[in-house]
Amino acid sequence: MKNIYNYTLKDLGDLMIGLGQKQFRANQLYSWIYQKRVKEFDEMSDVSLSFRQTLKQEFTLKLPKIIKKQVSYDGTIKLLLELEDKSVIEVVLMRYDYGNVVCVSSQVGCNMGCKFCASGLIKKQRDLTAGEMVSQVMMIQSLLDEEEESKRVSHVVIMGSGEPFDNYNNVMNFIRIINEQKGLAIGARHITVSTCGLPNKIVEFSKEGLQVNLAISLHASNDETRNKIMPINKAYPLTKLFKAINEYEKNANRRVTIEYILLKDLNDSIDNARELVKLLKGTFAYVNLIPYNEVKENPFKRSNKERVRAFYEELKRNGVNVTIRKEFGEDIDAACGQLRAKKEGVIDE
Ligand code: SAH
Repeated sequence: MKNIYNYTLKDLGDLMIGLGQKQFRANQLYSWIYQKRVKEFDEMSDVSLSFRQTLKQEFTLKLPKIIKKQVSYDGTIKLLLELEDKSVIEVVLMRYDYGNVVCVSSQVGCNMGCKFCASGLIKKQRDLTAGEMVSQVMMIQSLLDEEEESKRVSHVVIMGSGEPFDNYNNVMNFIRIINEQKGLAIGARHITVSTCGLPNKIVEFSKEGLQVNLAISLHASNDETRNKIMPINKAYPLTKLFKAINEYEKNANRRVTIEYILLKDLNDSIDNARELVKLLKGTFAYVNLIPYNEVKENPFKRSNKERVRAFYEELKRNGVNVTIRKEFGEDIDAACGQLRAKKEGVIDE
Protein backbone atom coordinates (compact mmCIF):
# COMPACT_ATOMS: atom_id res chain seq x y z
CA MET A 1 0.00 0.00 0.00
CA LYS A 2 1.23 3.45 -0.87
CA ASN A 3 1.02 6.41 1.49
CA ILE A 4 -1.08 8.93 -0.43
CA TYR A 5 0.63 11.85 1.36
CA ASN A 6 3.86 10.86 -0.34
CA TYR A 7 2.99 12.23 -3.76
CA THR A 8 3.27 15.61 -5.40
CA LEU A 9 0.26 16.58 -7.51
CA LYS A 10 2.19 15.70 -10.63
CA ASP A 11 3.29 12.26 -9.34
CA LEU A 12 -0.20 11.46 -8.11
CA GLY A 13 -1.52 12.42 -11.53
CA ASP A 14 0.92 9.98 -13.14
CA LEU A 15 -0.26 7.24 -10.79
CA MET A 16 -3.85 8.02 -11.76
CA ILE A 17 -2.99 7.51 -15.42
CA GLY A 18 -1.50 4.17 -14.44
CA LEU A 19 -4.87 3.30 -12.90
CA GLY A 20 -6.66 4.14 -16.14
CA GLN A 21 -7.82 7.57 -14.95
CA LYS A 22 -7.18 11.09 -16.18
CA GLN A 23 -4.27 13.10 -14.76
CA PHE A 24 -6.66 15.65 -13.24
CA ARG A 25 -8.15 13.01 -10.92
CA ALA A 26 -5.22 14.01 -8.75
CA ASN A 27 -6.65 17.54 -8.37
CA GLN A 28 -9.88 16.10 -7.09
CA LEU A 29 -8.02 13.88 -4.63
CA TYR A 30 -5.81 16.76 -3.45
CA SER A 31 -8.90 18.80 -2.74
CA TRP A 32 -10.51 16.01 -0.68
CA ILE A 33 -7.34 15.20 1.18
CA TYR A 34 -5.81 18.61 1.86
CA GLN A 35 -8.69 21.07 1.63
CA LYS A 36 -11.76 19.15 2.83
CA ARG A 37 -9.49 16.92 4.87
CA VAL A 38 -11.52 13.72 4.78
CA LYS A 39 -10.35 10.83 6.92
CA GLU A 40 -11.67 8.01 4.67
CA PHE A 41 -11.82 7.43 0.93
CA ASP A 42 -15.53 6.73 1.36
CA GLU A 43 -16.10 10.38 2.26
CA MET A 44 -15.08 11.37 -1.29
CA SER A 45 -18.69 11.60 -2.39
CA ASP A 46 -18.11 12.62 -6.01
CA VAL A 47 -15.74 9.71 -6.63
CA SER A 48 -17.47 6.60 -7.98
CA LEU A 49 -17.87 3.66 -5.61
CA SER A 50 -15.76 1.44 -7.80
CA PHE A 51 -12.87 3.89 -8.02
CA ARG A 52 -13.01 4.43 -4.24
CA GLN A 53 -12.52 0.67 -3.97
CA THR A 54 -9.44 0.91 -6.18
CA LEU A 55 -8.08 3.80 -4.11
CA LYS A 56 -8.55 1.78 -0.92
CA GLN A 57 -6.62 -1.09 -2.42
CA GLU A 58 -3.77 1.09 -3.64
CA PHE A 59 -3.36 3.77 -0.98
CA THR A 60 -3.56 4.48 2.69
CA LEU A 61 -4.89 7.79 4.02
CA LYS A 62 -4.11 6.93 7.59
CA LEU A 63 -2.31 9.42 9.81
CA PRO A 64 0.24 8.28 12.41
CA LYS A 65 -0.86 7.31 15.89
CA ILE A 66 -0.48 9.88 18.68
CA ILE A 67 1.30 8.20 21.56
CA LYS A 68 1.74 11.31 23.65
CA LYS A 69 0.27 14.79 23.48
CA GLN A 70 1.50 17.68 25.58
CA VAL A 71 -0.18 21.06 25.66
CA SER A 72 1.60 24.06 27.16
CA TYR A 73 -0.06 26.93 29.01
CA ASP A 74 0.91 29.07 26.00
CA GLY A 75 -1.00 26.79 23.61
CA THR A 76 2.07 25.07 22.19
CA ILE A 77 1.33 21.44 21.34
CA LYS A 78 3.94 18.73 21.14
CA LEU A 79 3.01 15.34 19.72
CA LEU A 80 4.91 12.11 19.85
CA LEU A 81 3.86 10.08 16.81
CA GLU A 82 4.27 6.41 16.01
CA LEU A 83 4.86 5.54 12.36
CA GLU A 84 3.94 2.34 10.49
CA ASP A 85 7.26 0.67 11.36
CA LYS A 86 6.88 1.73 15.04
CA SER A 87 9.49 4.47 14.68
CA VAL A 88 8.72 7.40 16.94
CA ILE A 89 8.98 11.04 15.88
CA GLU A 90 7.88 14.38 17.28
CA VAL A 91 6.13 17.40 15.85
CA VAL A 92 5.39 20.75 17.49
CA LEU A 93 2.80 23.49 16.94
CA MET A 94 3.71 27.02 18.01
CA ARG A 95 1.15 29.82 17.95
CA TYR A 96 2.70 33.14 16.94
CA ASP A 97 0.55 36.25 16.41
CA TYR A 98 1.28 36.00 12.70
CA GLY A 99 0.16 32.38 12.37
CA ASN A 100 0.35 28.73 13.34
CA VAL A 101 3.83 27.33 12.88
CA VAL A 102 4.53 23.61 12.68
CA CYS A 103 8.03 22.33 13.43
CA VAL A 104 8.55 19.15 11.40
CA SER A 105 11.10 16.35 11.90
CA SER A 106 12.97 15.14 8.82
CA GLN A 107 14.66 11.98 10.12
CA VAL A 108 14.29 9.41 12.89
CA GLY A 109 17.27 10.39 15.06
CA CYS A 110 20.17 12.36 13.58
CA ASN A 111 23.80 11.71 12.66
CA MET A 112 25.16 15.24 12.87
CA GLY A 113 26.13 14.82 16.51
CA CYS A 114 25.84 18.46 17.63
CA LYS A 115 26.93 18.33 21.26
CA PHE A 116 24.22 20.59 22.65
CA CYS A 117 21.29 18.90 20.90
CA ALA A 118 19.07 16.20 22.40
CA SER A 119 18.09 14.76 18.99
CA GLY A 120 21.63 13.64 18.36
CA LEU A 121 21.52 11.46 21.48
CA ILE A 122 19.88 8.91 19.20
CA LYS A 123 21.74 8.09 15.97
CA LYS A 124 19.86 8.28 12.72
CA GLN A 125 17.68 5.23 12.25
CA ARG A 126 16.28 6.27 8.90
CA ASP A 127 15.15 9.14 6.72
CA LEU A 128 11.50 10.14 6.82
CA THR A 129 9.57 9.92 3.57
CA ALA A 130 7.93 13.04 2.16
CA GLY A 131 4.58 11.52 3.14
CA GLU A 132 5.67 11.07 6.75
CA MET A 133 6.62 14.74 6.89
CA VAL A 134 3.32 15.75 5.27
CA SER A 135 1.42 13.65 7.79
CA GLN A 136 3.05 15.57 10.67
CA VAL A 137 1.55 18.76 9.25
CA MET A 138 -1.80 17.00 8.66
CA MET A 139 -1.86 15.73 12.25
CA ILE A 140 -1.48 19.26 13.60
CA GLN A 141 -3.98 20.59 11.05
CA SER A 142 -6.52 18.00 12.19
CA LEU A 143 -6.11 19.23 15.79
CA LEU A 144 -6.59 22.82 14.62
CA ASP A 145 -9.70 21.74 12.69
CA GLU A 146 -11.21 20.54 15.96
CA GLU A 147 -10.75 23.93 17.60
CA GLU A 148 -13.60 26.45 17.65
CA GLU A 149 -12.56 28.99 15.07
CA SER A 150 -11.20 27.42 11.96
CA LYS A 151 -7.46 27.85 11.96
CA ARG A 152 -4.91 26.68 9.49
CA VAL A 153 -1.28 25.76 9.59
CA SER A 154 0.21 28.87 7.98
CA HIS A 155 3.94 28.24 8.40
CA VAL A 156 6.22 25.21 8.42
CA VAL A 157 9.77 25.07 9.75
CA ILE A 158 11.86 21.98 9.09
CA MET A 159 13.66 22.30 12.40
CA GLY A 160 12.61 19.17 14.26
CA SER A 161 14.83 16.13 14.69
CA GLY A 162 17.09 15.31 11.79
CA GLU A 163 19.21 17.08 9.20
CA PRO A 164 16.96 17.97 6.24
CA PHE A 165 19.87 18.26 3.79
CA ASP A 166 20.88 14.71 4.71
CA ASN A 167 17.45 13.71 3.33
CA TYR A 168 17.42 16.18 0.46
CA ASN A 169 15.08 14.64 -2.12
CA ASN A 170 12.34 13.70 0.32
CA VAL A 171 12.48 17.14 1.90
CA MET A 172 12.14 18.80 -1.52
CA ASN A 173 9.13 16.67 -2.35
CA PHE A 174 7.64 17.46 1.05
CA ILE A 175 8.01 21.17 0.31
CA ARG A 176 6.36 20.78 -3.09
CA ILE A 177 3.43 18.88 -1.62
CA ILE A 178 2.61 21.36 1.19
CA ASN A 179 3.23 24.33 -1.11
CA GLU A 180 0.78 23.05 -3.76
CA GLN A 181 -1.95 25.61 -4.43
CA LYS A 182 -4.55 22.86 -4.85
CA GLY A 183 -3.52 21.32 -1.55
CA LEU A 184 -2.48 22.87 1.77
CA ALA A 185 -1.16 25.90 -0.13
CA ILE A 186 1.43 26.86 2.47
CA GLY A 187 3.29 29.75 0.87
CA ALA A 188 6.95 29.17 0.01
CA ARG A 189 7.90 32.28 1.99
CA HIS A 190 6.20 30.65 4.96
CA ILE A 191 8.41 27.56 4.78
CA THR A 192 11.88 27.42 6.35
CA VAL A 193 14.54 24.73 6.01
CA SER A 194 17.18 24.70 8.72
CA THR A 195 20.55 23.03 8.14
CA CYS A 196 23.69 22.51 10.19
CA GLY A 197 25.54 23.61 7.06
CA LEU A 198 26.22 21.14 4.23
CA PRO A 199 27.79 23.39 1.55
CA ASN A 200 27.03 21.25 -1.51
CA LYS A 201 23.40 20.97 -0.55
CA ILE A 202 23.13 24.68 0.20
CA VAL A 203 24.31 25.37 -3.34
CA GLU A 204 21.99 22.75 -4.82
CA PHE A 205 19.10 24.25 -2.87
CA SER A 206 19.94 27.71 -4.22
CA LYS A 207 19.17 26.43 -7.72
CA GLU A 208 15.74 24.94 -6.98
CA GLY A 209 14.00 28.18 -7.90
CA LEU A 210 11.99 28.09 -4.68
CA GLN A 211 11.14 31.10 -2.53
CA VAL A 212 11.63 28.97 0.59
CA ASN A 213 13.66 30.40 3.50
CA LEU A 214 17.00 28.92 4.45
CA ALA A 215 18.32 29.00 8.02
CA ILE A 216 21.87 28.02 8.91
CA SER A 217 22.71 26.70 12.38
CA LEU A 218 25.96 28.54 12.97
CA HIS A 219 26.21 28.71 16.77
CA ALA A 220 29.85 29.85 16.83
CA SER A 221 31.90 32.75 15.56
CA ASN A 222 35.12 30.82 14.88
CA ASP A 223 36.22 27.35 13.77
CA GLU A 224 37.76 26.43 17.10
CA THR A 225 34.52 26.83 19.01
CA ARG A 226 32.37 25.40 16.23
CA ASN A 227 34.60 22.31 16.02
CA LYS A 228 33.92 21.70 19.70
CA ILE A 229 30.15 21.75 19.45
CA MET A 230 29.38 20.78 15.85
CA PRO A 231 31.41 17.89 14.38
CA ILE A 232 30.17 18.80 10.88
CA ASN A 233 32.48 21.83 11.07
CA LYS A 234 35.51 19.56 10.82
CA ALA A 235 34.36 18.39 7.43
CA TYR A 236 33.08 21.82 6.33
CA PRO A 237 34.80 24.68 8.17
CA LEU A 238 33.51 28.24 8.16
CA THR A 239 35.25 29.38 4.96
CA LYS A 240 33.57 26.55 3.01
CA LEU A 241 30.22 27.23 4.67
CA PHE A 242 30.33 30.95 3.95
CA LYS A 243 31.38 30.38 0.37
CA ALA A 244 28.21 28.32 -0.04
CA ILE A 245 26.14 30.99 1.72
CA ASN A 246 27.48 33.65 -0.66
CA GLU A 247 26.65 31.48 -3.61
CA TYR A 248 23.17 30.83 -2.22
CA GLU A 249 22.49 34.53 -1.83
CA LYS A 250 23.63 35.16 -5.38
CA ASN A 251 21.76 32.26 -7.03
CA ALA A 252 18.52 32.44 -5.06
CA ASN A 253 18.61 36.19 -4.60
CA ARG A 254 17.51 35.59 -1.02
CA ARG A 255 19.01 36.24 2.40
CA VAL A 256 19.77 33.45 4.82
CA THR A 257 18.94 33.44 8.50
CA ILE A 258 21.84 32.63 10.79
CA GLU A 259 20.76 30.76 13.92
CA TYR A 260 23.02 31.32 16.88
CA ILE A 261 22.34 29.59 20.20
CA LEU A 262 23.89 31.52 23.06
CA LEU A 263 25.79 29.14 25.31
CA LYS A 264 27.12 30.47 28.59
CA ASP A 265 30.86 31.24 28.52
CA LEU A 266 31.29 29.38 25.27
CA ASN A 267 30.16 31.65 22.43
CA ASP A 268 28.39 34.55 24.14
CA SER A 269 31.08 37.19 24.80
CA ILE A 270 31.25 40.62 23.21
CA ASP A 271 34.37 39.44 21.39
CA ASN A 272 32.32 36.61 19.91
CA ALA A 273 29.71 39.12 18.80
CA ARG A 274 32.41 41.19 17.09
CA GLU A 275 33.84 38.08 15.44
CA LEU A 276 30.37 37.24 14.18
CA VAL A 277 29.97 40.71 12.71
CA LYS A 278 33.20 40.16 10.75
CA LEU A 279 32.12 36.73 9.62
CA LEU A 280 28.88 38.14 8.25
CA LYS A 281 30.57 40.88 6.21
CA GLY A 282 29.79 40.27 2.58
CA THR A 283 26.50 38.53 3.34
CA PHE A 284 22.99 39.95 3.77
CA ALA A 285 22.19 37.52 6.55
CA TYR A 286 19.69 38.03 9.35
CA VAL A 287 20.70 36.71 12.75
CA ASN A 288 18.31 34.92 15.07
CA LEU A 289 19.69 34.58 18.60
CA ILE A 290 18.32 31.46 20.30
CA PRO A 291 18.04 31.10 24.06
CA TYR A 292 19.44 27.64 24.79
CA ASN A 293 17.10 24.97 26.12
CA GLU A 294 19.20 23.12 28.63
CA VAL A 295 19.48 19.35 28.24
CA LYS A 296 20.37 17.45 31.39
CA GLU A 297 22.69 15.02 29.62
CA ASN A 298 25.14 17.68 28.46
CA PRO A 299 27.15 20.37 30.27
CA PHE A 300 25.96 23.43 28.30
CA LYS A 301 24.21 26.27 30.09
CA ARG A 302 21.97 29.04 28.85
CA SER A 303 23.44 32.55 28.75
CA ASN A 304 21.77 34.93 31.16
CA LYS A 305 19.45 37.69 29.94
CA GLU A 306 22.04 40.47 30.29
CA ARG A 307 24.57 38.53 28.23
CA VAL A 308 21.98 37.89 25.51
CA ARG A 309 21.00 41.56 25.51
CA ALA A 310 24.61 42.74 25.28
CA PHE A 311 25.33 40.32 22.41
CA TYR A 312 22.22 41.55 20.64
CA GLU A 313 23.13 45.21 21.12
CA GLU A 314 26.65 44.66 19.82
CA LEU A 315 25.32 43.11 16.60
CA LYS A 316 22.75 45.85 16.23
CA ARG A 317 25.30 48.58 16.78
CA ASN A 318 27.27 47.11 13.88
CA GLY A 319 24.31 47.17 11.54
CA VAL A 320 23.45 43.47 11.68
CA ASN A 321 19.78 42.61 11.32
CA VAL A 322 19.15 40.66 14.51
CA THR A 323 16.24 39.25 16.55
CA ILE A 324 15.97 37.14 19.69
CA ARG A 325 13.86 34.02 19.28
CA LYS A 326 10.61 33.95 21.23
CA GLU A 327 10.28 30.89 23.41
CA PHE A 328 7.39 28.47 23.47
CA GLY A 329 6.31 25.52 25.53
CA GLU A 330 9.05 25.72 28.13
CA ASP A 331 6.87 23.62 30.45
CA ILE A 332 6.59 20.72 27.98
CA ASP A 333 10.16 19.72 27.09
CA ALA A 334 10.49 22.33 24.39
CA ALA A 335 14.14 21.48 23.75
CA CYS A 336 14.51 19.77 20.43
CA GLY A 337 14.34 15.98 20.62
CA GLN A 338 13.79 15.82 24.35
CA LEU A 339 10.38 14.27 24.26
CA ARG A 340 11.41 11.47 21.97
CA ALA A 341 14.68 10.91 23.79
CA LYS A 342 12.66 10.41 26.99
CA LYS A 343 10.42 7.86 25.34
CA GLU A 344 13.44 5.90 24.17
CA GLY A 345 14.89 6.04 27.67
CA VAL A 346 17.97 7.94 26.52
CA ILE A 347 17.32 10.85 28.86
CA ASP A 348 15.58 10.89 32.21
CA GLU A 349 12.06 12.06 32.96
N1 SAH B 1 19.63 19.71 11.61
C1 SAH B 1 19.04 20.99 11.34
C2 SAH B 1 17.60 21.12 11.82
C3 SAH B 1 17.25 20.55 13.16
S1 SAH B 1 17.82 21.42 14.59
C4 SAH B 1 19.91 22.10 11.87
O1 SAH B 1 20.94 21.81 12.45
O2 SAH B 1 19.58 23.27 11.69
C5 SAH B 1 16.94 22.93 14.60
C6 SAH B 1 17.61 24.05 15.38
O3 SAH B 1 17.49 23.83 16.80
C7 SAH B 1 19.08 24.16 15.10
O4 SAH B 1 19.47 25.50 14.98
C8 SAH B 1 19.67 23.53 16.33
O5 SAH B 1 20.99 23.89 16.49
C9 SAH B 1 18.74 24.04 17.40
N2 SAH B 1 18.80 23.33 18.69
C10 SAH B 1 19.11 22.04 18.92
N3 SAH B 1 19.09 21.76 20.24
C11 SAH B 1 18.73 22.90 20.86
C12 SAH B 1 18.53 23.25 22.23
N4 SAH B 1 18.67 22.36 23.19
N5 SAH B 1 18.18 24.54 22.50
C13 SAH B 1 18.01 25.45 21.49
N6 SAH B 1 18.17 25.16 20.21
C14 SAH B 1 18.54 23.91 19.88
